[in-house]
Amino acid sequence: MKILVINCGSSSLKYQVLDMNGEILLAKGLVERIGMDGSVITHEKIGMDKVRNETPMESHKEAIQLVLDAIIDPEHGVVKDMSEIGAVGHRVVHAGEKYASSVLIDDDVIQALEECVELAPLHNPPNLLGIAACQELMPNTPMVGVFDTAFHQTMPPESYIYAIPYEYYQKHKIRRYGFHGTSHKYVSQRAADIMNCNLDDLKIITCHLGNGASVSAIKRGVCIDTSMGFTPLEGLVMGTRCGDIDPAIVTYIREKEHLDQGVANEILNTKSGVLGISGVSSDFRDLEEAAEEGNERAQLAIKVFAHKVRFYIGAYIAEMNGVDAIVFTAGVGENDIAMRDIICNDLGNLGIKLDLVKNKTRGKEAIISRDDSRVKIILIPTDEELMIARDTLEIVKGLNK
Ligand code: AMP
Repeated sequence: MKILVINCGSSSLKYQVLDMNGEILLAKGLVERIGMDGSVITHEKIGMDKVRNETPMESHKEAIQLVLDAIIDPEHGVVKDMSEIGAVGHRVVHAGEKYASSVLIDDDVIQALEECVELAPLHNPPNLLGIAACQELMPNTPMVGVFDTAFHQTMPPESYIYAIPYEYYQKHKIRRYGFHGTSHKYVSQRAADIMNCNLDDLKIITCHLGNGASVSAIKRGVCIDTSMGFTPLEGLVMGTRCGDIDPAIVTYIREKEHLDQGVANEILNTKSGVLGISGVSSDFRDLEEAAEEGNERAQLAIKVFAHKVRFYIGAYIAEMNGVDAIVFTAGVGENDIAMRDIICNDLGNLGIKLDLVKNKTRGKEAIISRDDSRVKIILIPTDEELMIARDTLEIVKGLNK
């Protein structure tokens, strides 16, 4: 079966077409600046050059129509007509407490996701627009929702309840949800495959270190804790997000700097993290260059980032009473040799020993721990789209039984 995967943002949209017979990527693309000047679709049939088409598109529906046109294009397309697409898998950020796994999208699901808009005001609305557009343009094709929060729904209450009056959880659903779940799930499954072990026998810490970053503790294939919380702001220091801070700082800065709530929120989300500490960049390549040139704040930002990752690794080893594998994924985790070195440095007493030669790998699967390391350190490029396509296939196969 061929599956279309859609990841719809507010003004952009990523897509892939996969042939699930062999899990082969057939085509992928990106639509940018939807509803703005200079909107453009870049489509790539795997094995051919990318094609770029700058054309106005007012809405997500127009954007998706262009995606469908690209997919069936006689030269650059990968299907003869849309009936070859057996299902569409949609990435949706927030499903609240409602869904612990992916689901076939129907009116009840749409309503549940609309109720989660309050919890993810930047993400769920465009995700829903993408679903609505596909439903309109492909009315007979089943649609599946795959949620960033779902994998973390297995966390026990002691991991997700905040120590604030309990009524806020009951009234306003304030609890820890966690994000990047599709990525944590994918890389933990791959880690078990690479180790030739059963996932049910393993304790794994997955470090998704990208511009957004989170760590998860996965025991026997089940997430028991993760560093992001009610929103993606909690946890690790990130490119531009502050991660864990004393909540009293928020009211204190607002008073000292005379900031309204929206501005304070923006500062913590877009002007903090390693960008905030260094004043240089949120991009680790820039930071490392500046650090090498002697920029002390860039050096400090790198150390603070690594410190926090180590802090969570230590915490999760305690929570799981041990660890068999630590996985690095996403932009920084997959590519940043120096950062992995700092994070794993001097953890030998915990059985974690990085191989400095194997660690020189970038962007491909590899075990990068020493042969005498009790804990395997594994580099795994994430593949959220494949995970979405797999879940979609599973659900659609169930329909045909
Ligand atoms: P992501 O959000 O997963 O796309 O990751 C984006 C982050 O990965 C950015 O902060 C990039 O600086 C970082 N990144 C990508 N390539 C490298 C690299 N070669 N070295 C260090 N950081 C990198």
